Amino acid sequence: MSEVQVPGRVPSPLVEVADGRFARHGVRLLLKRDDLIHPDLVGNKWRKLAPSVRAAAGRPLVTFGGAWSNHLRATAAAGRLLGQETVGIVRGDELADRELNASLARCVADGMRLRFVDRASYRRKAEPPVLERLLRGAGAPPDAFVVPEGGSNALAVHGCVALGRELRGVADVAAVACGTGGTLAGLAAGLDPGQRALGVAVLKGGFLAEEVRRLQREAFGGPRGRWQVENRFHGGGFARVPAELEFFARDFEDRHGLAVERLYVAKLLFALTALTGEGAFPPGTRLAAVITGRPFPEG
Ligand SMILES: *Cc1c(COP(=O)(O)O)cnc(C)c1O
Repeated sequence: MSEVQVPGRVPSPLVEVADGRFARHGVRLLLKRDDLIHPDLVGNKWRKLAPSVRAAAGRPLVTFGGAWSNHLRATAAAGRLLGQETVGIVRGDELADRELNASLARCVADGMRLRFVDRASYRRKAEPPVLERLLRGAGAPPDAFVVPEGGSNALAVHGCVALGRELRGVADVAAVACGTGGTLAGLAAGLDPGQRALGVAVLKGGFLAEEVRRLQREAFGGPRGRWQVENRFHGGGFARVPAELEFFARDFEDRHGLAVERLYVAKLLFALTALTGEGAFPPGTRLAAVITGRPFPEG
């Protein structure tokens, strides 16, 4: 696999934290601090995007996202860091007439050109004629390098294999929050046979396992590693942060001094705390939680 050009702090640090809710069940909680890899290209996005930027080889990079998309911001940052033109196709043409929110403003500051599209077209963006029309509308050439929404292509999955490798020998279960499942697909592939990966879905719908299988087929030609998906902790759907989850996240920040990203990381940590309480992990388990990102904007 291509070497990554954006310098980052890898392997990312692995730190054990003392938390009675885990210790009580004989479980050791370790935080895999991918949030510390790079200040601008944060967490798993560093692992996922750098290979695509390299593969684009100078062609403009086009991708998709909602108004608060971590992936869109990361793509813009990657473009700036690697001197690569980026175009962001944003869901919701009503946003075109409004002041940019902090996330989109950051994209623009990093040099990304934004194109707002209606939700119906956005939904159908994978259909070749629709995609072609969207690219034309965004002023992108037909040979632009298109990265799917959420950034999970085969290159991204390969980029996340290193995450699994870094956890060999130091954890029994490696857990990660999942949007598209690309990170989980690569993580599982990088682990040793005695280890397993656990993905916590932050979206409703129960489609994630099928997506992970598809991504592993695309990246490796077939299934890799031991992994499973936990679908009970989406908290009502993407970007929903119920009061109980918000309370949990603040408490976790107070206990451990970690800034807890709400859309993904909070749901992961909440899920692991609940699962441990249910006795899902046998005593002696070393449980590594991948901290895939930081809050934005930073509090
Ligand atoms: C994008 C993102 C994820 C989800 O990664 P997938 O590969 O899409 O499953 C998890 N955590 C954070 C903080 C993210 O920004």
